[in-house]
Amino acid sequence: MSTTKPRVLTGDTPTGRLHLGHYVGSIENRLALQDQYDCYFLIANKHAFTTRADRPAEIRQSVVDIATDWLAVGIDPERSAMVLQSEVPAIDELTFFFSMLLPFNRVLRNPTLAQEIKDKDLGDKYPFGFPLYTVGQCADILAFRPQLVPVGEDQLPHLEMTREVARRFNQLYCGVDPQTEDADHLARGGLMPVIEPKLGRVKRLVGIGAPNAETGQLHKMSKSLNNAIFLSDDADTVRKKVMSMYTDPKRITGKEPGEVDPAKNPLWAFHETFNSDAPWLQEHRELYRAGKVGDVVVKKKLVEVLNDLIEPIRTRRKQFELRPDEVIEALRRGTRRANQVAEETLALAKQAMKQDYFARTLSIP
Ligand code: ATP
Ligand code: MG
Repeated sequence: MSTTKPRVLTGDTPTGRLHLGHYVGSIENRLALQDQYDCYFLIANKHAFTTRADRPAEIRQSVVDIATDWLAVGIDPERSAMVLQSEVPAIDELTFFFSMLLPFNRVLRNPTLAQEIKDKDLGDKYPFGFPLYTVGQCADILAFRPQLVPVGEDQLPHLEMTREVARRFNQLYCGVDPQTEDADHLARGGLMPVIEPKLGRVKRLVGIGAPNAETGQLHKMSKSLNNAIFLSDDADTVRKKVMSMYTDPKRITGKEPGEVDPAKNPLWAFHETFNSDAPWLQEHRELYRAGKVGDVVVKKKLVEVLNDLIEPIRTRRKQFELRPDEVIEALRRGTRRANQVAEETLALAKQAMKQDYFARTLSIP
């Protein structure tokens, strides 16, 4: 299936199921783009091995979970390719070449990498493959030479690295002048686009837990941090999670007006993000600030709002859960399409690097 539409690439690591952060950070954009763009959505199963090489069965389950979540939220496998990273070998081949284009210390200085080492409590025990995954992600993206990459804010350092790799590749192997503007690289003969990130409506949705004890900052909602509301949570789980959600204890200080800074108070951050009832919000924000309404009322409303959003997703998900073969089949077809594009990129890259001795193709039956 070849198409002339510009391409979109993004993906998720199978370290759990999809949560509300994915929804506002990336999924909403994916759904909006799948008509006008040739979309490739990647399940980065190899990257899951960075932190759970000892738990392959968990990773396998999570691949199926994420793919099922995608279908449940409305990713249409007829239009968008659902791609399994481990079956697109061109990505690995590009990773090796790209790893030569980035100084080692540049990779280690990637701030998202540093944050993940902290958040996931990896200390200095993380494997060699952990920093390598950031180079792998440059290849995940550039293998598809996409025009747009919809992501959450935490991905921006990875995307900046991807832009550096693209510039360097084009300069070294395609004769692109170093002074060339990013947007002009392709027109000047570059193979790799200097991609633009496309941030979601909410760049970084916070989790439901307490802030970081050292910095006072709320954590981002994350599969790995045990602070997520999942798109597959049942109504009662959503209720329990919301009712026990952290709220800033200083919110009502008696004489002083309460603290309603969403950065410190996930409850309001969630309302601002998901509650479209503007009059309710305005009224209750005032009442809350004045100490005339407590957490329980605001939380109960949030339970309603979130369950309204999640219910149709949950219902569709149940149908796909009964048809696991269909989920795998969607991955097989999407991965086959992905290999067509990625193999073409790899062949062009090898040509540019003067390593095109004879042809080679790969296909999935
Ligand atoms: P992990 O904890 O294993 O890193 P994760 O929850 O960060 O998992 P990823 O698979 O790493 O999820 O991220 C998939 C996409 O969702 C990325 O584009 C990422 O930026 C976006 N994303 C993840 N969490 C959030 C969030 N809390 N707010 C906005 N976007 C998010
Ligand atoms: Mg992540």
